[in-house]
Amino acid sequence: MEDKALIFDIKRDCSEDGPGIRTTIFFKGCPLSCIWCQNPESKTKSPQLSFRAEACKPSECNVACVKVCESHCLSFVDILHVNHDQCIRCDRCFDVCPTKALEPVGYWVTLDELMYRISIDIPFFRSSDGGVTLSGGEATQQIPFIHRLLKALKKKGIHTAIETSGFFNYRRFKELVLPYLDLIYFDLKLIDDIKSKKYTGQSNQLIFDNFKSLIYEAEIPIIPRIPLIPGITTNKDNLKGIAEFLKKLSVDSATLLPYNPLWRDKLKRLDLESNYELSSLMSAEEIEACVEHFYS
Ligand code: SF4
Ligand code: SF4
Repeated sequence: MEDKALIFDIKRDCSEDGPGIRTTIFFKGCPLSCIWCQNPESKTKSPQLSFRAEACKPSECNVACVKVCESHCLSFVDILHVNHDQCIRCDRCFDVCPTKALEPVGYWVTLDELMYRISIDIPFFRSSDGGVTLSGGEATQQIPFIHRLLKALKKKGIHTAIETSGFFNYRRFKELVLPYLDLIYFDLKLIDDIKSKKYTGQSNQLIFDNFKSLIYEAEIPIIPRIPLIPGITTNKDNLKGIAEFLKKLSVDSATLLPYNPLWRDKLKRLDLESNYELSSLMSAEEIEACVEHFYS
């Protein structure tokens, strides 16, 4: 469905996804399956259902959702039971749920709809030197659409950025995406390919090759970012190894992104599981140790 994009969120007034005030579009679908994925709702390329058990108040609705679901994914025995696999996303239950315990994750938008939403924020972009950031998931999974979106944004003189896992077809990225970008945030996670396959589900070869190609060929800023995932990416070998890779390309800095455990709540709502258990924030000392490893 190339004339529409599947997205799962539009965040306005963002200040962390690039310069100035930004609107960030989160695209659904990702070729990686990092076991710590901060946006697990981005992984699949289809709309999903989210259920927050703590928000469910059957006494307020007379269990209205069960009555409207013709796919029999909802049943009530003491509490509401949700069969996520059976959901066909007819969206009927969302309309009758008074507490928003049931919510849609992912919806299709046309370019015109998206540009209309974005255009509301143009005054904020102008006053702050901000713009639009494409995030995900992996936005390049929907390359024909983001090509048209970026072109439309540039036509309006809007600053554009992308946050990418680096796992894309370089030729297509160079032809359809790069000419319309002002800034790239590029994630580098694991220098060891065996660990990359184990923890992200993909080899790191394409990612590191793409980064190298962009450093040689792109004429815009490329900011490498390393997610700090305790026990996986935070060890000295990994951080030092990535620093050495960057140094060979004359890139002498990177953004280290401290682990945030909030994604674990999202997993439950989507009925997904992960082997990665850490549910606490990193301490200042742990973060400091990572900085030292990177610059050692
Ligand atoms: S979206 Fe439709 S199919 Fe899915 S749980 Fe709700 S009513 Fe049932
Ligand atoms: S999910 Fe919503 S509609 Fe269904 S029982 Fe809970 S509160 Fe009622």
